[in-house]
Formats: sequence, C-alpha cells, structure tokens
Amino acid sequence: MKIKEIVSALERFAPLPLQDGFDNAGLQIGLTEAEATGALLCLDVTEAVLDEAIALGYNLVISHHPLIFKGYKSITGKDYVERCMLKAIKNDIVIYSAHTNLDNAQGGVNYKIAEKIGLKNLKVLEPKENSLIKLVTFVPDAQADSVREALFAAGCGNIGNYDSCSYNLKGEGTFRAKEGTHPFCGTIGELHHENEVRIETVLPIYKKAEVIKALLSAHPYEEPAFDLYPLQNNWSQAGSGIVGELDESETELEFLKRIKKIFEVGCVRHNKLTGREIQKVALCGGAGAFLLPQAIRTGADVFITGEIKYHDYFGHEGDILMAEIGHYESEQYTKEIFYSIIRDLFPNFALQLSKINTNPIKYL
Ligand SMILES: [Zn+2]
Repeated sequence: MKIKEIVSALERFAPLPLQDGFDNAGLQIGLTEAEATGALLCLDVTEAVLDEAIALGYNLVISHHPLIFKGYKSITGKDYVERCMLKAIKNDIVIYSAHTNLDNAQGGVNYKIAEKIGLKNLKVLEPKENSLIKLVTFVPDAQADSVREALFAAGCGNIGNYDSCSYNLKGEGTFRAKEGTHPFCGTIGELHHENEVRIETVLPIYKKAEVIKALLSAHPYEEPAFDLYPLQNNWSQAGSGIVGELDESETELEFLKRIKKIFEVGCVRHNKLTGREIQKVALCGGAGAFLLPQAIRTGADVFITGEIKYHDYFGHEGDILMAEIGHYESEQYTKEIFYSIIRDLFPNFALQLSKINTNPIKYL
C-alpha cells in the first residue's frame, strides 16, 4: 500500500480545510507515492521518535503536532526541528500531521478525551461558523432521485447524526434553447415548460468544488441551474472542544482524582472547588483555555484542558471548576485515533504507537 492511501484515509476522517488559520497540518516531509513499510504514531515528532521509526524499519511517522510551523531559508540542523527534517529526509521517512483538523473533526481529539472520561450526549463546545452553504438546484422529476443521490454521495445533506437531508418542492421550469445547444428536452427555438423538483440541501463549504462537479455530471441538463447561499448557521458537527454528561454525578474531588489517574497527570492544577457535584463536563485537549467562556455559558460543572494561564483562573470562583491536566497528558490518546482509522481500513498494515513519552515537562 502506498503512503498516499494512508494519508487520504486520515484526511477523509479529518479534512485539512477543518484546520485553524494558524495551523500547518498535513504532509510535513516526504513523497507519498512510496510504498508504506509501516507507520509510527505519535503526538510530537522528535529525533528519538524518528530513531524509533528507523529501528522499526517504518517509513511513515504520523503525529498530532506538526513538526514544521514556519518558513525556512536554510536547513542546517541548528535546532531540533531542522535536525528532525534532515534525519527524516536522509532516512526516506514521510512525516504527516493531523492537528487542529483532528481537533475540529467529529470523532477527533476531544471525542477521544470524552470517551476516556466516560461522557455521553456529546456536543461541540464552539461549533465552526461560516462553514456551511446551501445548494439549491432544479431537476426534472424523473432525474430528481439520481441527482439527489449524487449530491449526498458527494457530501451534501448531513445535519447532526442524520444524513440524506434535503427539501424537495415540485414546480415548473421554463427555458428556450438557442441555436447550437443540445437540450435534454424541448425543441430548439421553442419555449419549453418542464416539471421540475427544486432540491435544497446543505454542505460544508470546503466540499463546494466536489459537489458542483457531482451535480454537473449527474444533472441531465446541458446548463443546470443551481444557486449557492452562504449560511449563518453554526456547523454543529465540527469545531472546538466538547461538552458531555456523566452517567452518574461525582463529587469534585472524586472527579479530579479520576482524571488524574486516567491521564496519568503528575499534578492536576485546579481552582477553588465550587461545592457542587460534577455531571456536565466541558473539555478541550491542549491549549483550550480560550473556550472557558463557552464552557461557563453551556452550564458545565467543570472545564478541563491542557493549559490554563495564571490570570485566566481569576474571577471564576463558584462559576465553574477549572482543571488543568497538562498539554501532553490531555492529548496523549490521540495516537489511538490514528491507530483505529488505519487499522479499520488496512488490517494487516504494520502499525505501532510510539513508546516514547515526548512530554518535555517534568514534575518534581
Ligand atoms: Zn496540542
């Protein structure tokens, strides 16, 4: 199997257009036409991780955090990133990273954290905005089903946990074909009336080109009419953070101790206990403190993230329990997401979670 097949499986799960503006997710180093000899899954790419891949004979390293974040004018090995680049290239290793696209995807980083804690009824804490558009098209009655199916297959019609969503209204279209056309129905030079269905459906904006291509190839008309509308709706399936519920409430101390154990945290930092039981949990892996206002707004009893700054702790006593479990600790199980995406599709492929703990932070 080629490396590019693994990359496209990862990108079907976590499409690159879902990444945040500052990010550099995707292929970092290498050529993906090569046959994959095995994939090592990690949170961070370090020289030790690359050595692990080399020892295993694997030519693919898949990380959560991108190795490369900036432009380079020279690569001379003056820091660990440059040394990693050189080592990967010298050893024909491809590095691929799925970062905020995996944070923002359904089933991504935060879903995995929620699964470890045992949360149910998951909702995205801050759904993506300006990411959806509506497609309206007009199709002769007899072809409406096949065009609708083609649109669904191309990625239209997903709302929450429902697929194949559309609205269909019967009506009448008119057109007059001019000289040189090849009309599907009607006669050149004569006004034609056709019974048509107005099909409305929703799609993520990043799928626009793919969907238009599918529409044009499935629609019987030479010049299909269609409209695209921007939507102000939030995209409930994609975005930052997660909020969910525990089956049974726990005291704050019970909850914090359980979190400390699940994520193997050396020291859980938290604010003053509120005295209330924990039932509703908001969380975001990594540096998720920016979601604190959303966590409070949603009525969560606790907000868990990897990093919270000193000043962010002020002013929330009694509002919400805040718990900081470490960046690495919060995201360490991301490797399991890579594992199951690849294992499901390629059951016999050589695959391993890195055994190296890349957390640079130690606790005394
Ligand atoms: Zn992170």
